[in-house]
Amino acid sequence: MSMEFTRRDLIKNFLFLGISTSLSPISIGASQKRDVRWIPAYEKLELEGKLAQRVKQAYAFLENCQLCPRKCGVNRQKGEKGFCRAPVNPVIFSYHPHFGEEICLVGGKGSGTIFFSHCNLRCIFCQNWPISHEGKGKEIQDEDLADMMLHLQKIGCHNINLVTPTHVMPNIINATRIALKRGLCLPLVYNTSGYECLEILKILDGIVDIYMPDMKYMDADKAARYSAGASDYPEVTKKAIIEMHRQVGVLKLDHQGIAIRGLMIRHLVMPNRVAGTEKFVKWVSEGLPKSTYVNIMAQYRVEYKAYDYPEIARGITAQEFLEAINSAEKYGLTNLDPQSLALKNFYQNRRTH
Ligand code: SF4
Repeated sequence: MSMEFTRRDLIKNFLFLGISTSLSPISIGASQKRDVRWIPAYEKLELEGKLAQRVKQAYAFLENCQLCPRKCGVNRQKGEKGFCRAPVNPVIFSYHPHFGEEICLVGGKGSGTIFFSHCNLRCIFCQNWPISHEGKGKEIQDEDLADMMLHLQKIGCHNINLVTPTHVMPNIINATRIALKRGLCLPLVYNTSGYECLEILKILDGIVDIYMPDMKYMDADKAARYSAGASDYPEVTKKAIIEMHRQVGVLKLDHQGIAIRGLMIRHLVMPNRVAGTEKFVKWVSEGLPKSTYVNIMAQYRVEYKAYDYPEIARGITAQEFLEAINSAEKYGLTNLDPQSLALKNFYQNRRTH
């Protein structure tokens, strides 16, 4: 039996994925009301007659896969699999409104999150390892992916949040074009590990409105040890983030405080300074505007194979988190995630009482 989602399956899957049906549908036009003149980047590109060419250009990469810095060179169109083990079609683990993302993505109705299975980085501490390492999920067609985007829009989500998109980038932009023709008008959030090739990001120029890369490590040895030999991660990701900023600039919000365009960098604080936070914030302060949105994240937990690596086989301490966020402030970063600042205040108040 086919593993593909049918349109009818969308509703069933929505229930299967445990999403509350109490989320009342709202009209597609509702998101436009927040700013009447705002239209997504990909719509402008389509109006210029350039989006179809980008889809073609992206698909060509699948024949000799160079979609990410692993550059495996496999022919995914013929069923060959590279490091990420992804087939040519997207594999989806789940799609739903997500209320655990940054406040400016979540708003009142949630961030329309689509979790793609497989991953080109495969960190040994991954919290989503059954999805990213083992590829759990359902293989679908690009048309079904477009249906999912439209469904998320219909139930009121503020954006389409593409989690681990790198290895399925051609499918995403094809699906976006299909969905655009049927009324999609939400910003795409490219929620990536940051391990991206510049030539691929150039294809996304004018399609993605919000880039949300991680910056996981600043040190090649740490990247190699914890992310499957990717010793080039720090250098590659720094260049990728600079390019993302060139394309979309500093984060902009609409009048309701919802993100509509720009760069949002995530940095997960790790035990024993493994993530190199001080180097990271220094790098941001020297290479990007100080108003760049940065989320210093405290939620590291020991997962998957991290138990085997003593350096990261524990959660972070309050002291480690405070040190990280204080160094972001010391280097003059002015647009830190409000939830991470609230957590800082909470820990500081506890220390003084
Ligand atoms: S996307 Fe997958 S197959 Fe393609 S280069 Fe990257 S790891 Fe290899």
